[in-house]
Amino acid sequence: MTQLHNMTVAQLAQTLQTKQASAVEVATAFLARAGGNPHNAFLDINSEVTLAQAQASDARIAAGTAGALEGVPIAHKDVFVTRDFATTAGSKILSGYRSPFDATVVQKLGAGVNDQNGAGMVSLGKVNCDEFAMGSANENSAYGPVTNPWDTSRVPGGSSGGSAAAVAARLAPAATGTDTGGSIRQPASFCGITGIKPTYGRASRYGMIAYASSLDQAGPMARTAEDCALLLSAMCGADLDRDSTSLDVPAENFSAKLGDSLTGLRIGIPKEFFGEGLAADVRTTIDAALKTLEAQGAKLVPITLPRTELAIPVYYIIAPAEASSNLSRFDGVKFGHRAKDYTDLVNMYKKTRAEGFGEEVKRRIMTGAYVLSHGYYDAYYLQAQKIRRMIADDFQSAFAECDVIAGPVAPSVAWKLGNNASDPLADYLADIFTLPASLAGLPGMSMPVGFGKGHMPVGMQLIGNYLQEARLLNVAHQYQLATDHHLQQPEGI
Ligand code: GLN
Repeated sequence: MTQLHNMTVAQLAQTLQTKQASAVEVATAFLARAGGNPHNAFLDINSEVTLAQAQASDARIAAGTAGALEGVPIAHKDVFVTRDFATTAGSKILSGYRSPFDATVVQKLGAGVNDQNGAGMVSLGKVNCDEFAMGSANENSAYGPVTNPWDTSRVPGGSSGGSAAAVAARLAPAATGTDTGGSIRQPASFCGITGIKPTYGRASRYGMIAYASSLDQAGPMARTAEDCALLLSAMCGADLDRDSTSLDVPAENFSAKLGDSLTGLRIGIPKEFFGEGLAADVRTTIDAALKTLEAQGAKLVPITLPRTELAIPVYYIIAPAEASSNLSRFDGVKFGHRAKDYTDLVNMYKKTRAEGFGEEVKRRIMTGAYVLSHGYYDAYYLQAQKIRRMIADDFQSAFAECDVIAGPVAPSVAWKLGNNASDPLADYLADIFTLPASLAGLPGMSMPVGFGKGHMPVGMQLIGNYLQEARLLNVAHQYQLATDHHLQQPEGI
């Protein structure tokens, strides 16, 4: 039998259902690996809680009431609120915070929502992330950076860096992530794993700490497209009473089309994604992957997404604007940290926020407050919203000619820790290929397609039209049947 920590979600589910291992045995194996906290991936682990959940899973398996992924472990990004683990969003301002409830996504993957059964997964704890999910390298966490299991002198990507590192280092078979402007796709690419951000509104945002509400989406990160399909099927579904932007579409079995052939599939290749800024090693790797897809029957169609470059200024106006509003709730009154010495209420707010927020979060709050302020609103925020619509329209023109869009996730492989420390703009610019789909609310994913400089993983991005997640997963699964990049693992794991 494959060692438990080397099994995929699908293999673990099978092993548990056929009682070749118990949920407690599986949980114990992963808890042992996470001990000592390699890569600084975890922020909260509580073996008592995890083992109690595993026991409950074993009881359900014995009783014949098991969920679809009963007993399979998962780690949750620390922006999902959880009752049994602390939730910090990677911020000092929420240090030690305990939520009175679980996020809907956490419930659906776990024991279930209300009287509806969930998938039955066992929570391994909470994983590190950039503070309030703001970042591209996981260097903005108040609890220290996460390191990349492929090369610990490099970043794992962000903001879901803890999720990606935990899966790549086999500390967890799967993790949740959130993607506002690329935070599932880019760390998946940097750590050589598979991740998908569904159409905006597919997964409930209830209990997901808000960064930029019109962009935030939850999604799974795992080793294979097959696993992502299983996880996404459990996570998605309308949540109309609790999330006002939840899509009123039924849950879907995203595994149903994995086996479809790629013959005749039209893959759009946006010329703007293959310009000067793309590193040569990434380009060569992506080109080779496209050849493989062609050999599998797909047709490559040149397309254009003419406003790609504008995605950066547009996103870095809209996201901070929403963040400045969302983060106003952290005022020392309702949640988390409160300054010790203060003279009056306003002074308490100021000191609490000055002490509690990190530099990048403060930068975004200030940018956001500025672009929303009287006199600048029309010039920045309103303009950005107009261009956002044009970016979405460009995708619709492109999808008239192709079924899915493919390209790089990021312009380079993972960079060295500290590389961009004095230049936050460098991190922003690296988001260029993930931001357009986020602004349009489209589903996007990353799958490992090989290695670039320094033997660092390279991910290919697949973008689909609205609600076309099953199609993306189908393409990735077929690619993974023909290749073994997703099976590679970092040395010493
Ligand atoms: N890197 C982007 C940012 O810093 C995206 C982050 C995200 O998707 N959460 O905002």
